Amino acid sequence: MVNRDERWSMQGATALVTGGSKGIGRAIVEELARFGVTVHTCSRNEEELNSMLNQCQMMNLRVTGSICDVSNRAEREKLMDQVRTIFNGKLDILVNNAGGVGPGWKAAIEFSLEEYSNLMATNFDSCFHLTQLAHPFLKESGRGNVVFISSIAGTGRVEGLAVYSSTKGAMNQLAKALACEWAGDMIRVNCVAPGYIATSLIKPVTENEENHKQLTSRIPLRRLGEAEEVASMVAFLCLPAASFVTGAIIYVDGGHTANLS
Ligand code: NDP
Repeated sequence: MVNRDERWSMQGATALVTGGSKGIGRAIVEELARFGVTVHTCSRNEEELNSMLNQCQMMNLRVTGSICDVSNRAEREKLMDQVRTIFNGKLDILVNNAGGVGPGWKAAIEFSLEEYSNLMATNFDSCFHLTQLAHPFLKESGRGNVVFISSIAGTGRVEGLAVYSSTKGAMNQLAKALACEWAGDMIRVNCVAPGYIATSLIKPVTENEENHKQLTSRIPLRRLGEAEEVASMVAFLCLPAASFVTGAIIYVDGGHTANLS
C-alpha cells in the first residue's frame, strides 16, 4: 500500500478528457489540472475551445486541446495519434465525456435513422473506439484509469430520451466488461452517472420555471447539480485512493435515483 500522500496525489499524470470546452467536461479538465495532471481535451467549436484554453493558461493549468468530432472514426484516430505524441505514448487517464442528446427530447418513433446513427456514434461508438485506441497507452501507464460519463438515464427511464438512454446503458455495460477484461493490465474502468446538472445541455428543459420546479421536486436535495460536483467524483476515481474501485457506476444526482419508485 502506498503512503497517504501518494494515495491522494495525481501529480505528473496525463489525461485525455473529451468535450472539455464547456459544461461537465470543462470542470473535469480544470479539476484534474489542479491536481497537477497534464490534460489534453477536444471539442468541435474552435472558438469555445480556444477561449477555454486561454483561461486555463491564465490559471497556469497545463491544458492543451485540439478540434475533433468524436463521432467521426478518422478524427478519433487522429486525436489518439496527437495524444500519443504529446504524452510520449503513456496515458494515465481517459475520460469519455463528450456527448449530447442529439435531436433533443422526442418520442423514439420520431427518430430518423440518421438521427439515431449520429447519436449512437457521438455518445457510444466514440467511447468504445477511443477506449480501444487508448488501451496500449493506458497499459503502459501501469495505473490506467478510464471514466465514462454516463447518466441516470442509463438506468431509469427519462421521457423523450430513448436513444440517449440506450447509449448510456450500453456505456454502463461496457465499463463493467472492460473493468474485468483489463484488470490484469492494471487499468480501472468506472462510470460516473450524473443526474440533472446545470449546463447548456439541459437548458432547453430547465429554463422554463415550471419544468425546473417539477424536475427539482423529484430530487431529494431539491436543486440541479453543478458541473464541479461531477468533476470531483471523476478526480476521486482517478486517484490511487480509489485503487479498489473498478466496474462501478456511481450516481452523482442529489439522490434522484434513490428516489425513483
Ligand atoms: P455540454 O453541452 O455543456 O458540453 C458538451 C461538451 O462535449 C462540449 O465541450 C461539446 O463541444 C463537446 N461535444 C459534444 N459533441 C461532441 C462531438 N461530437 N465531438 C467532440 N466534442 C463534442 O454538455 P454537458 O457538459 O452537460 O454533458 C457532458 C456529458 O455529461 C455528456 O456525455 C452528457 O450526456 C453527460 N450528462 C450530462 C447531464 C446534464 O444534466 N448536464 C446529465 C447526465 C449526463 P462542441 O459542441 O464544441 O463539440
